[in-house]
Amino acid sequence: MNICIIGMGYVGLVTGAVFADLGNDVIGVDKDKGKIEVLRKGLMPIYEPGLEEIVRRNMDEGRLSFTTETALGVKKSEIIFIAVGTPPKDDGETDLSFVESAAAEIGQTLDGVEEDDSALRYKIVVNKSTVPVGTGALVSDIIEKYKRNTIPCHVVSNPEFLREGSAIADALHPDRIIIGAPNREVAMRLIELYAVLERPMIITSVRSAEMIKYASNAFLATKISFVNAMANLCELVGADVDEVAKGMGYDPRIGRDFLRAGLGFGGSCFPKDILSLIHVSDEYDYDLKMLKSVVEVNEGQPARFLAKIRQEMGDLRGKTVGILGLAFKPNTDDMREAVSISIISSMLANGTAVKAYDPVAMENAKKIFPHLTYCHSAYEVAEGAQGLVVVTEWNEFRQLNMDKIKSLMKEPLIFDGRNIYDPQKMKSKGFKYYGVGRYIQE
Ligand code: NAD
Repeated sequence: MNICIIGMGYVGLVTGAVFADLGNDVIGVDKDKGKIEVLRKGLMPIYEPGLEEIVRRNMDEGRLSFTTETALGVKKSEIIFIAVGTPPKDDGETDLSFVESAAAEIGQTLDGVEEDDSALRYKIVVNKSTVPVGTGALVSDIIEKYKRNTIPCHVVSNPEFLREGSAIADALHPDRIIIGAPNREVAMRLIELYAVLERPMIITSVRSAEMIKYASNAFLATKISFVNAMANLCELVGADVDEVAKGMGYDPRIGRDFLRAGLGFGGSCFPKDILSLIHVSDEYDYDLKMLKSVVEVNEGQPARFLAKIRQEMGDLRGKTVGILGLAFKPNTDDMREAVSISIISSMLANGTAVKAYDPVAMENAKKIFPHLTYCHSAYEVAEGAQGLVVVTEWNEFRQLNMDKIKSLMKEPLIFDGRNIYDPQKMKSKGFKYYGVGRYIQE
């Protein structure tokens, strides 16, 4: 099939590369000229394991190309994916301006398509961006407003569930594919596109598909805040949240995933999607109290942890603290809504000297914190530090040589914000250890 993807970010680029790899002809569009130039050179504007190889191979084999011209992609394609950003406004409402401008450009292009012999004449526009319920209808209205002809154009909702860090594998083996289509024929075209993946497909209305994405993210975020609330209680009652979560997780109705206590969730999706859902419910006069509590617990986690650090270390002014991990989660360079931002901001505001290391996110972190001391390894971070804070659970931090870390640090103090270390082991190595909801035997 001929496919156009508008928006070459984490979702659009991965989706485009995977569709090309499955044998489709894909044109990737982005307004960001710099991004397109980088991609045309076969380089990656983002860090995503395995992406460069698959992009280059499909470019070399002529199935994947990049342009800044939306019209070029729209004319040549039967299926047009919108995968642009949907950031939050200050009040939590989703900013749909990128989606609206992509829809307007599609409509404007279709307006001239009748006279263009090289253009395909049947179009399906697919919202892959995460958008509030009703956006399918909005996109359809915008396209119709501009196109002023009878070329058939249907709008589908096909939300994306890939996770940064394992995006390629997720796009090739999704747990489910949601196709919110206005009618059977349109749904069939999407089924044909995805059939090769041999994964479960669920056909729904456009509005249900839009809700499925938000409801899924809201549920996962709820699990995280739930276990964090339990962690906070465990600390008070003398239980260990990791043991509690393990004991709960073997119940298949509960499941083990997303039951890891820590500093809470960040990233480009959960925080904004939950605020968006709350905003939509407020608009419908439904008080989504449950999700408001999820946000409250999440926002409280870094502050609780900082209080722990201050209680142990006292006034942080003039002290040196090492930060392990900056990205919002491991295996990505994405710093959007990363917990490291609030932790480091608070420390800097208190006059703390912060040293930090992240395997891939430091370039992005420098845009937020240009003046931190960035290090080349966890060991360099430990050198002279009076406390070490684990913020992102990169695998390479799990098996550090703790004797070496201790010998480098000024004070053997570990604040494990992701519970990656065994408290007893840390104690036996001579560290004073703090985790989230952990029980440490005296
Ligand atoms: P991103 O910010 O990484 O990329 C968006 C891209 O769209 C940018 O490169 C931007 O330049 C481009 N763009 C904006 N307007 C454009 C236009 N009119 N024409 C062409 N290009 C345009 O965003 P992302 O992380 O890939 O997320 C995209 C959408 O997918 C969002 O709605 C997000 O919520 C959703 N989503 C993201 C993830 C994730 O893990 N990042 C997962 C599932 C769903």
